Amino acid sequence: MTEAQQTALDEADFFTVTDLKQFAYCPRVIYYERCLPGIRPRTFKMDAGHAVHKEEGEKSRRRVTASYGIVQGERLFEVRFRSERLGLMGVLDELIVGTDGARIPVDYKMARAVSANHRVQIAAYAMLIEETWNVPVPRGHIYLIPKRSPVEILMTPRLRQSVRESLDALRNLVQREAVPPPPAKRAVCAGCEFRRFCNDV
Ligand code: SF4
Repeated sequence: MTEAQQTALDEADFFTVTDLKQFAYCPRVIYYERCLPGIRPRTFKMDAGHAVHKEEGEKSRRRVTASYGIVQGERLFEVRFRSERLGLMGVLDELIVGTDGARIPVDYKMARAVSANHRVQIAAYAMLIEETWNVPVPRGHIYLIPKRSPVEILMTPRLRQSVRESLDALRNLVQREAVPPPPAKRAVCAGCEFRRFCNDV
């Protein structure tokens, strides 16, 4: 992002870590949300899904003790981040602040395996933490709720680059205001709240 773009940033110019996930599923959802604001239908399924994730996340946090043996330290929950440089903000499920000063992001997922977009999300949180405290964050964890298991994710240069590329692609999409093609895997369309706006799927 250029300096001129940074100074012009207001709340609406920021993307969220959730946008990164949504973009990985279907860029068209971001188009609807950003270029046609106000049309997003709220569905019972969305609200129910959010509630289940919140409830299960809270249960897991109570169940998990001593930071899963990852590191000794303080556990903080629902930590908010915002980066002017990245044009990115998000709310992290858990941040472990180790007694040695290490900061480790933990993202809770209702999934049995880690996917590529989970990795991009945890890397985005790592980058937000690094900018906030000016400390290196070499790893994070995805906590798989159904398996009650944390999976360590190393913050490789490739993964960080994926975050930057995704943010550039998001900005490009919004600036062009052109409807993106539907996703290759049309199965995701079946439960999509924008389904009635897409006549080509
Ligand atoms: S219906 Fe399919 S193509 Fe349309 S926004 Fe939803 S996921 Fe994307």
